[in-house]
Amino acid sequence: MNPQSLIMALLPVILAGVFVHGVNTLMHKSRPGPAWWLAGTAVHGLGQALICFRAGLPDALGVVLGDILSAGGFLIMLEGVARFSGRSLPRWVSGSIAAALVLGFPVFTWVTDNAAVRLAIFAAAVILSNLLMLPYLDVIGRRDGQTGVRLLRWTIYYFIFSLAAISIGVMLFEPGMPSILAPSQLVAVGLLSLFGVETTLIFGFVLLSSGQSVADLRSAAMTDHLTGLPNRRAFEHRVNEAFRTSNAAEFGAALAVFDIDHFKRVNDQHGHDVGDAVLRHVADTLSRCLRKSDYVARLGGEEFVAVLHDVDAEGFRLVADRVRAAVEASPLEIDGQSIRVTISVGLAPLSTRDAQEDASFSALFAIADAALYRAKHGGRNQVVLAAAA
Ligand code: GH3
Ligand code: MG
Ligand code: MG
Repeated sequence: MNPQSLIMALLPVILAGVFVHGVNTLMHKSRPGPAWWLAGTAVHGLGQALICFRAGLPDALGVVLGDILSAGGFLIMLEGVARFSGRSLPRWVSGSIAAALVLGFPVFTWVTDNAAVRLAIFAAAVILSNLLMLPYLDVIGRRDGQTGVRLLRWTIYYFIFSLAAISIGVMLFEPGMPSILAPSQLVAVGLLSLFGVETTLIFGFVLLSSGQSVADLRSAAMTDHLTGLPNRRAFEHRVNEAFRTSNAAEFGAALAVFDIDHFKRVNDQHGHDVGDAVLRHVADTLSRCLRKSDYVARLGGEEFVAVLHDVDAEGFRLVADRVRAAVEASPLEIDGQSIRVTISVGLAPLSTRDAQEDASFSALFAIADAALYRAKHGGRNQVVLAAAA
């Protein structure tokens, strides 16, 4: 197992990585990240190719440039991870690592020729580039989920450990090694482990992209496009989940259904676009008047829903009435006209007997909807509380 054959065998693996990253970049054109992973892998591969064929090349290419590109590729990948996470890598950090590469390799080639120190510089830069990916991976994991993040994290731990062990081993046992290509069991073991690392890094980065796509689709499936509020699917899921996993009373005290009064007239008199603007306006008013934990959602049409948290019936009745009054008091100003709408509200307290027996969104909603019906028949623009047990 001489190092040159191992690096030569590694080249097709890296080339395959360049292809995979190329396709991934085309599939995720608008996202920052994939293009950097492509560039980083290509630069790293070019560096490895120069190192592999250094016997037939001047030192400036085969040793100095080969080492700079091979290590610098990981710095480019780090930049990609930082951008993909929505953060940016401080300029002084990338600048310092790049400077250490651009100065270190020439010095330890032409001033004093020392292959062991070159390996140590390579290891230090690559370890640092990988280590710095970890905090950005945490950010990505919180945003898009853990699939690719976990794979990358463990790959990085292993990579750092093996690189550190190999370069310390070389420093201790083979400090006078003439070149990275000279026969060395230690270097051979390091290169073998690089086969695994290169492959898993490629998979890991691609999984980050697909993780983000899945997270985006999930969020789109849970969001009402017109108002930006959670939609019925999201609300139902959240309410049922809360009932299943915790004490329902801790979750909230009442389900409130809000319905715009005579909304059809708004559409008929002012047109559908103005109707849409009114829906957005009412959605904003509800969000403004209620807490984030009340989880306002659009059920569909001109109906909204929320979970109210006040402990007693009078408490959440007051909250609901404050929302009703706010909608009445804040007309939408549009195209030089002022459009005033009102809402009716049906409230289903969690203490309702039926709701307690069958604590689910549909059971509670049926009760709130019956109360809403009474509010409509009672003259609209009012809050009606379903009878408690
Ligand atoms: P009520 O006081 O009894 O609730 O009367 P209403 O007119 O509000 O109720 P109705 O159910 O008769 O009409 C609801 C209207 O909401 C009919 C539908 O065209 C309109 N609507 C539903 N979704 C949208 C939407 O996304 N945009 C707009 N502009 N209108 C919508
Ligand atoms: Mg309605
Ligand atoms: Mg209505």
